[in-house]
Amino acid sequence: MEKEEDKYAKELEVAVRVVHVACALCGRVQERLLATTNDHVVAKDDDSPVTVADFSVQATISWLLSEILGVQNVSIVAEEDIETISKDESASLLEAVVNTVNESLAFASKYGLQCPETTLGTPEVLEAIARCNSTGGPRGRYWVLDPVDGTLGFVRGDQYAVALALIEDGKVVLGVLGCPNYPVKIEWLNYHYQHHQTMPESSLKTPDTGGKGCVLYARKGSGEAWLQSLIDGDNMLEWPNCARLIRVSSIDDPALATLCEPVERANSNHSFTAGLAHSVGLRKQPLRVHSMVKYAAIARGDAEIFMKFAKCGYKEKIWDHAAGVVIVEEAGGVVTDAGGRPLDFSKGMYLEGLDRGIIACSGVALHEKLIDAVYASWDSSNL
Ligand SMILES: [Mg+2]
Repeated sequence: MEKEEDKYAKELEVAVRVVHVACALCGRVQERLLATTNDHVVAKDDDSPVTVADFSVQATISWLLSEILGVQNVSIVAEEDIETISKDESASLLEAVVNTVNESLAFASKYGLQCPETTLGTPEVLEAIARCNSTGGPRGRYWVLDPVDGTLGFVRGDQYAVALALIEDGKVVLGVLGCPNYPVKIEWLNYHYQHHQTMPESSLKTPDTGGKGCVLYARKGSGEAWLQSLIDGDNMLEWPNCARLIRVSSIDDPALATLCEPVERANSNHSFTAGLAHSVGLRKQPLRVHSMVKYAAIARGDAEIFMKFAKCGYKEKIWDHAAGVVIVEEAGGVVTDAGGRPLDFSKGMYLEGLDRGIIACSGVALHEKLIDAVYASWDSSNL
């Protein structure tokens, strides 16, 4: 019989490598985006921004997973569909996506992955994006991808994440979270914010300090979560290389705990969260980061609590949580809905049946206090 630790070993290795490729892609696109005017940023039907990076990452990851694991074995639920990019007015966006995908795939061998023999044409790139048409559900194996989580942060030159998870029979079994602008050392994040500039390149590349970003990953049930710094792909040829174990913080006193807060206020109820934070006795300055990087912050021990209470009518999508949840849990943390139940990834593209919101904590003690506080303050809230 297959040993437990060998299960998903190949999938995990491939997933980590493709997320590194995707992070490098995003880094290049973000650099260009900030250096020029914001071209190639279009609004989706729900008005949220989408860029060349969103489509390019989706196409690149879809193409690589299918090539390596076999197209018949790969089913993907992903955020982007081909409608937006197939419109006539998106022609220049599509052209930029095709170029970006080919540029990234040409670098894939640096990450120990195969490159295509010839450059991909527009139909192949569209096909790779369109192939991500799984709708999830309770059975079978499928990948869940948010190519760029926190596009708003991305276009502002700030935090964002590439999130890839594998679900089998409705349960998240692997999670990989690429955080290209979340430095290995949290002090550098503060440096970035205080001085509005990134760390000098020279200090980012020494082997002991790692890069300005990181990739986190975990396999369900392993009791381990890992971090790799986002450095040159040459270090990715051997596997697993330069990875270190991460663990949640051991702080369980609310007065010493840090709340990880969203930057953007859309889709979440800030005042309810602020009220809860106050009622359980949180006193420290919150850590404000975009996107699923909040799960990374909890898993790494940079913060202790992340809560999200959606505004009425907003439904949480599985790709915004799957990778982050398994990484936090394997790093020793707890993630549930506000009723204390595990998140249910088996109901399709949305987290159906979610009780009010999501509470992620570094440990059981803080988690219990928050769940109790939700019960105590729910009646008086105006969600
Ligand atoms: Mg996204």
